[in-house]
Parts: sequence; C-alpha cells; structure tokens
Amino acid sequence: MPINSSVQLCGAKARQNNHQPCRQPAMRAKNRCRLHGGKATGPKTLAGKKHAAQANLKYGRYTNTAILERKYMQELMRWRDDLHELS
Ligand SMILES: [Zn+2]
Repeated sequence: MPINSSVQLCGAKARQNNHQPCRQPAMRAKNRCRLHGGKATGPKTLAGKKHAAQANLKYGRYTNTAILERKYMQELMRWRDDLHELS
C-alpha cells in the first residue's frame, strides 16, 4: 500500500537496494529526504550566522571581557594602596 502519494519522495540514487531511488518521503519544501541532504546545513543569512555565533558564547570568569575587567580592578586596587602608603 503506497503511503500518501501527495508527499514528494526523495528519489536520491541509493547505493544499496540495487541502486533503486530512495523512497523516503522528502523533507517539506525540499526534494531530498533527511538522509540525502534534506536536513539543515547551517545558517545561510547574515542574521542566522550571527545567531549561530552567539550560541556558544560564554558568559563567565574567562571571557576576554571578564579577564580585562579583573585586571582593571586589580590595577585600581594597586593605585589605591599606593595612595594609602603615600598619605
Ligand atoms: Zn533519500
């Protein structure tokens, strides 16, 4: 019994099964199935790329910003101590 015939089939040439075309249903709005390149292959738009770059961004003790802030604070403390010694 055929599955819903309105669904587009993938049709990629299979390496198994005597090189019959793939009979997986294709991904929506695409014409290959999830095994044959239908899956997302990464961000395409600039906005999408930016979003992806943010995904692994770290917030914490070891970001460049945090390290710089700590160094700045240490420097301030040193100045304060120097002033204290002078007075
Ligand atoms: Zn396929």
